[in-house]
This record gives sequence, structure tokens and C-alpha cells, in this order.
Amino acid sequence: MRIDVITAFPPLFEGPLSESIVKRAREGGYVEIVIHDLRAYAHDKHRTLDDTPYGGGAGMILKPEPIFECVEALQAERSYDEVILTTPAGEVYDQRLCKQLSLHENLIILCGHYKGVDQRVIDALVTREISIGDYVLTGGELAAAVIIDSVVRLIPGVIGDGESLLSDSFMEGELDCPYYTRPPEFRGMRVPDELLSGDHKRVEAWRRRESSRMTRERRPDLLEGSGGARAKTSPRSGDGPRAKDKE
Ligand code: SAM
Repeated sequence: MRIDVITAFPPLFEGPLSESIVKRAREGGYVEIVIHDLRAYAHDKHRTLDDTPYGGGAGMILKPEPIFECVEALQAERSYDEVILTTPAGEVYDQRLCKQLSLHENLIILCGHYKGVDQRVIDALVTREISIGDYVLTGGELAAAVIIDSVVRLIPGVIGDGESLLSDSFMEGELDCPYYTRPPEFRGMRVPDELLSGDHKRVEAWRRRESSRMTRERRPDLLEGSGGARAKTSPRSGDGPRAKDKE
């Protein structure tokens, strides 16, 4: 998979894309992520990317010319499955959309900034507008980093223990269950007997029960119409304690 990110603030990506799983995925050749500095496509000597909005009002708007030139230069090299704009006005990002994106070969993510982006960019270039939630960020860079992180971990092979992924929250329609590690008792708080029993069927049943309880209590909306998806299709095999996540 290849992800091209277009941004006026490339340094904002330095941390999120160079640590942990995303770093390993890049080094292992599972994903190529290329950050494009929009300023390289600005025309004047000050490398101006924004201008005042027609009609007046506060805030600056990202100009269309540099964005068109950057996107078109990329599209001349290869075809893209989606040209994504991060925006509070987009469809709200969730694991379903994340799974869809992870199946693609080539993505462009365009990061908005300032008051917004010239509407002609959206009308002519953007194929998908995505919001990461009902709040307003300073720019689309953090939203793009969220999308990239969540998509990359779904690329087959990126996380060694694929079963660990499948039991994550939202993958099967429920929240994940609570976890404990050693010691079995800490400051008077004991690990549930089921998890210490060594009986894999009991462990499995406990995890399923806890997943359902947490989902019912915290996110009943996930269960609406699902008929308890996880209980029926749980990837938890019951043939042993789950291998440690390689994250
Ligand atoms: N005027 C815009 C509005 O109210 O919808 C907000 C602009 S915001 C200050 C600047 C940029 O941050 C946006 O163009 C978008 O790219 C990004 N952004 C802000 N909130 C976001 C969110 N919830 N999801 C995705 N991108 C967001």
C-alpha cells in the first residue's frame, strides 16, 4: 500500500509515523508513506498557500492552485483509489471505514488547515471527506495520522498476531474485554479466577461475557441490530491463552 499525504506542515508527521507499528510497517515494506510539502507547489517567492475568503470574514483559506498541482502530479504517476480530505464536515471515521481503506493500494490524504480549503478542490479532486469526530482540530495533520495509524495496523502481516487484531474493539462489533498481567494479586486486587484457571474454555467464556457486558454498559449502540455479532463470530479459538501482542 502507498499513502501520499499533502500538508502545509510536514513536521507534524515526524512523531506519529516514525515509531512503533507504523515505523515497523514502513521499514518492512508493508506501506510506503510519502509526505508532500504543499509549499513546494506554491508560486510566489513567499510560498503563500492561503488567502482571504471571498465575501470577507475571519480566517484564511488554502488556495486551490498548489493543491491541484500536487494532486495532479501524483495522479500522473499512478492511479489512486481515493483522494481523501480530512474535514469536520466529512463522514465520521470508524473501524468499518478503516477496514475499507486498508484494502486499497494507493491513497492520497489531503490535510486542511486554517479556516478551510477552497471548495473547488473538494468539488474537482476529493473523492472522500472524512472527519475523525465531532470536534475541531487546528489542522488535518493529526486526523491524517489517526487514519494512517489505524489503517496500517490492518495491513496483513503488519501485526504478527492477526488474532489479536480480530479481537480488538469494533472488529467484531463489540468492545474488547479487560486484561490483566502478572502479578496475580496487586495491592489487594486479584486477577479474576477464570483467567488464572488454566482452563482455556473458561478463559474464553469469561472474555466473551466481559466483552458483551462492557459493550452493553458503555456502547449499547454497537449492539443495535447486530444480534451480538461477536458472540457468534468471535475469533477467540479457545485453544490457548492468546499470544502476546507484538505491539
Ligand atoms: N472551518 C472548519 C469547520 O468548522 O468545519 C474547521 C477548520 S479547522 C480549524 C482546519 C482543518 O483541520 C480542517 O480544514 C480539517 O482539515 C482539519 N480538521 C479539523 N477538525 C477535524 C476533524 N474533526 N476531522 C478531520 N479533520 C479535521
